[in-house]
Amino acid sequence: MIWSRPTLETFSIFPKVTLAKPRPPSPARSRPSPKSRNLLLAALPADEYDRLLPMLEILTIKSRQVLSGPGEPPRHVYFPCGGFLSSTIVMENGTMVEVATIGREGMAGLATKWPSGAAPTNTLVVVQGDSCYRMSAEDFRREMDECDCFMELITLYGEAFLGVVMQSTGCNAAHGVEQRLARWLLLAHDRMEATEFPLTQEFVAMLLGATRQTVTVVAGELQKEGLITYQRGKIRIVDRKGLEAASCECYKVSANLLRAVVARRPGPKARAK
Ligand SMILES: [Zn+2]
Repeated sequence: MIWSRPTLETFSIFPKVTLAKPRPPSPARSRPSPKSRNLLLAALPADEYDRLLPMLEILTIKSRQVLSGPGEPPRHVYFPCGGFLSSTIVMENGTMVEVATIGREGMAGLATKWPSGAAPTNTLVVVQGDSCYRMSAEDFRREMDECDCFMELITLYGEAFLGVVMQSTGCNAAHGVEQRLARWLLLAHDRMEATEFPLTQEFVAMLLGATRQTVTVVAGELQKEGLITYQRGKIRIVDRKGLEAASCECYKVSANLLRAVVARRPGPKARAK
């Protein structure tokens, strides 16, 4: 595919390109369309992407669906084509806090290749997208071992993902709820590629590790400032630039880390063994 540089008009993880939508996921499992909306898969050389196709399934995932639990050896890895997932950590008292979000720029299931084979986090669907690609853990491990370009791309993503988690840790400790909410909404806006999307304040509060009351007050402030509207479980981004100004630096740091992965696609030397 032809890769375009992202516009500087507004800051976003995603280049402003429109990829063909995948075929509707009917029946529940079918083969992916030739052009992937998942940017990691789309960044692979065409011959490598074609080689992976038989190992990929398209499936429909639903909001709040848990794809994997803490300590569970993943049976699959997931490459979202829209919407976004959340990687969350659950404390002993049941408090759930998000450590990172995962959209169509990335994947869930990096721990599949770790020696332990399991992550301490949940992966759950925050907002469902059109579809999601799924690959078995066995195929993923084998491709990582046998295909240099796949290994390079996933390793680059893993490095960026770790950077995002580190930034999120700093953000949670150093920045206020309004800045964190603005950061979170910007990342959600990038991933949804729509100005309005469904989201309950209760769910956002859980992901941010804040109380619902706090999120209600802070979202009310952002609404008063004309940056968002929030009605009947739907958030609308009204003033994207204003929201960027209201966010801490963590949004741009995270977006830069993720954007760099697909901008630096595997070179011609990194071929399958
Ligand atoms: Zn921050």
